[in-house]
Amino acid sequence: MNKLLEGKKGLVIGIANDHSIAWGITDNLCKEGAQVFLTYQNDSLKKRVEPLSQKIDCLGVFPCDVESTESIEALKNSINTKIDFIVHAVAYSDKNELSGKYLNTSKENFLKTLHISSFSLTEITKIFMPLLNDNASIMALSYYGAKKYMQSYNVMGVAKAALETSIKYLAVDMGDRGIRVNGISAGPMRTLAGAVINKSRQIYSYTINNSPIKKALTLDDIGKSAVYLVSDLSKGVTGEILYVDNGYNKIGMSLEEV
Ligand code: NAD
Repeated sequence: MNKLLEGKKGLVIGIANDHSIAWGITDNLCKEGAQVFLTYQNDSLKKRVEPLSQKIDCLGVFPCDVESTESIEALKNSINTKIDFIVHAVAYSDKNELSGKYLNTSKENFLKTLHISSFSLTEITKIFMPLLNDNASIMALSYYGAKKYMQSYNVMGVAKAALETSIKYLAVDMGDRGIRVNGISAGPMRTLAGAVINKSRQIYSYTINNSPIKKALTLDDIGKSAVYLVSDLSKGVTGEILYVDNGYNKIGMSLEEV
């Protein structure tokens, strides 16, 4: 049987280790025949990303700090070949501001969080435009804290709201070339970034107990939805946020709470 992504090449930004959502996505994209370029944020993460790159059909591993325009441009120059998809799975905020009140967010951390977690999608899309094939697919990772108050998510919720709105505007700007821009809003996962959120373990258990599908979400669950978004199966889908959260966002109040 033909693989869904045979012949497609792309870029995945955001692998820190084998628990990263970006790794779950990469693994599934490659199982469907895709070839990928990977990035690492800094030298300590390079040691984790390089061994993972050897398990898949990897075209190259390059540094990229999305806070730096020069770094994104250098990545584009290193890749210098046409690609069919970009996966943005990057977020950062000061841990100290992912607990307590949102009211206490500092200006410095607000701007840094929004720069790395939201604006970078727009800048990466713009810089990579010349390398993107027509009908390419771009996706970014979001969380339900973009839509509703979620305890401790604070400024990251504001950044994800900006990210989700950027997805809609970018979908329009890229649509004339058939390039699609979508988001996956994933349920809470035990990753490095996830663990930074205050009381992440309790949020994780709460979500499982209050979702229609009462089980832990896996990297594979998210990866398979990413295959759909990169593949032609979703060729009429753009500007969309796909909830891959075992249905958590569909429950207002669970029966147990009434
Ligand atoms: P992770 O820690 O494995 O990945 C986060 C990645 O962001 C890391 O690879 C890190 O190197 C990268 N990053 C941070 N600052 C960067 C910078 N300046 N330049 C380049 N890379 C940078 O955690 P994850 O949970 O897999 O996060 C991936 C994405 O999924 C993020 O956007 C996150 O907000 C989102 N997400 C996570 C959860 C969760 O519960 N873990 C839920 C929904 C959405």
